[in-house]
Amino acid sequence: MFQMVLRKIVWISTIALPLFSMIKIPRFRRMFTLRRSVNLRSLILWLCLSFVFLVLFSSLHAAYRVQQGLLLEQSVRVNQAYAERLAHASDDFLRSSAAVLKSAALDITAGQLDVAVIREEFKQVMEVTKAFDALVLVDVSGSVLAASPGAVFRNVALPLWPELFQGKAVPEPMVASAFQGGEGRWMTMVATPVFAPDGAYAGFIGGGMYLQSRSALQESLDKLSYEEGTYFRIVDGSQTIIYHPEQSQIGTTAQDVATVTEQPQITGRQSLPEPDEINPDQELVSVAAIPAAGWLVIAQRPTERVFANTSELLLRTLLLALPVFALSLLAIWYLSGLIASPLRQLATAAANLDNHADFRRIRFVKGWYVEAALIRQGLMQSFSAIGSRIRKLYQQGATDPLTGTMNRRGLDAALEEMTDAEQSVAVVMIDVDHFKAVNDRFGHALGDEVLKAIAELIMTQARREDVVARLGGEEFVVVLPETGLEAAGQFAERLRRAVAQTVFETVGSVTVSLGVACYPEHGNDLYEALALADAALYRAKADGRNRVHQVE
Ligand code: GH3
Ligand code: MG
Ligand code: MG
Repeated sequence: MFQMVLRKIVWISTIALPLFSMIKIPRFRRMFTLRRSVNLRSLILWLCLSFVFLVLFSSLHAAYRVQQGLLLEQSVRVNQAYAERLAHASDDFLRSSAAVLKSAALDITAGQLDVAVIREEFKQVMEVTKAFDALVLVDVSGSVLAASPGAVFRNVALPLWPELFQGKAVPEPMVASAFQGGEGRWMTMVATPVFAPDGAYAGFIGGGMYLQSRSALQESLDKLSYEEGTYFRIVDGSQTIIYHPEQSQIGTTAQDVATVTEQPQITGRQSLPEPDEINPDQELVSVAAIPAAGWLVIAQRPTERVFANTSELLLRTLLLALPVFALSLLAIWYLSGLIASPLRQLATAAANLDNHADFRRIRFVKGWYVEAALIRQGLMQSFSAIGSRIRKLYQQGATDPLTGTMNRRGLDAALEEMTDAEQSVAVVMIDVDHFKAVNDRFGHALGDEVLKAIAELIMTQARREDVVARLGGEEFVVVLPETGLEAAGQFAERLRRAVAQTVFETVGSVTVSLGVACYPEHGNDLYEALALADAALYRAKADGRNRVHQVE
């Protein structure tokens, strides 16, 4: 049962799963893209789990096969040894009983084959050994001289070996094939020759042994049965069953002797078959010869019993493997998280490129393996490249192309940032005096050069944090953060003087008029302050130009 389940699992994991996944991959993909439920971590988890299960089950399968092979080998050896032990014990039994007969034969010879002596000898033999159930003395002509009990041999065609007994090479002991005694019971007989005092062959003395009832032979063999399921038979040279655990079989012909003795792969004489190739009804068969009788012991052990313990062994192996298996699962779970987390963090950061704070987290992502480190580096590089490009574009959009100062958009952005300033911000409006006349006299191009030179002057005079912008035409504005009205006035005056003192190429002297205001002292916001500074500038123009006017 367990074996069947295991085989199914191994089969599924080794053949069916890969096939199934091959067929189903496009469907899986669709499923995953639709549900968006698959992530790197689960992918790694599934992959590793599949392999871990595959390895576990294939190892179990291998262990199972190895165990079965070992058990088979061991059982074959045990069974063979068992058969040999049985054969040895039977041989001993037959030889020792024959020895008793032999000494009786000598006494009978000495007693001149007298029937009274023979009867006395029979009595003694029966007292000495329980091996025989009946004794008989047959003369050269084959007639029974004496028998005890007489009924056993009455009208029985006794197996005779006169020709052998007359010959010189007498095999000892002589053991008969199975025959039916006078009472119809199956028996066998051990015999030894009897000689006349002159040394001539005079017949034989035979000790009959019952095969079916509780004879000594039976009892001694019964004792050697050792395990349920394992049994043995003894067959004589004519394949008649001498011993069988089922008494009714005794005396019948064993049809399968030729087959079982010719199954070397199962008897273990040659290489063993793979456990798989053994069908459940098969048996291990070991054959051993009993030399004294020319009989065979056939010991049989069902293969079902051979493999009885494999499932339990396998279960134990599985239990032993479980802690490592559980630890592997934990490790896989932890490692999959470790691998997936940098990529997940990087993906989140990349999705929020516009969120600066989120993006800064990229620095803290642990890129502990090459790919994650490369992605992190790549993301950081592209982000800074995109950032500088954006800054450049922004600058271009906020800069006046002629003078390099900020344009109206740049100024607006700067003012926007300064709106919440706690300290005062000064604004200085600048307009070139009679610039129309410069254009008219020297041409527009030279006029542009003057504008550039004035812008240059303003930027030189301004601090780093000051914002210089051209508002169009020949009007400029300077925004001075953290600057009061007085300092702003001084700055404006310095600027006015610097322009007035400059001699512009070809054009000569040019002057500017300036208006100064300060937020929050003037106006509700910076734009109102700007308008007030413009009004002051207007007054400076009206007052004769080349001068600074402050909002009062
Ligand atoms: P006022 O002292 O009153 O300011 O006199 P003005 O001639 O400067 O008068 P206004 O400010 O009205 O004239 C601006 C002139 O500036 C008009 C235009 O010819 C000239 N102008 C405006 N933008 C440019 C420019 O980009 N390049 C040059 N060369 N001239 C410009
Ligand atoms: Mg103007
Ligand atoms: Mg002007």
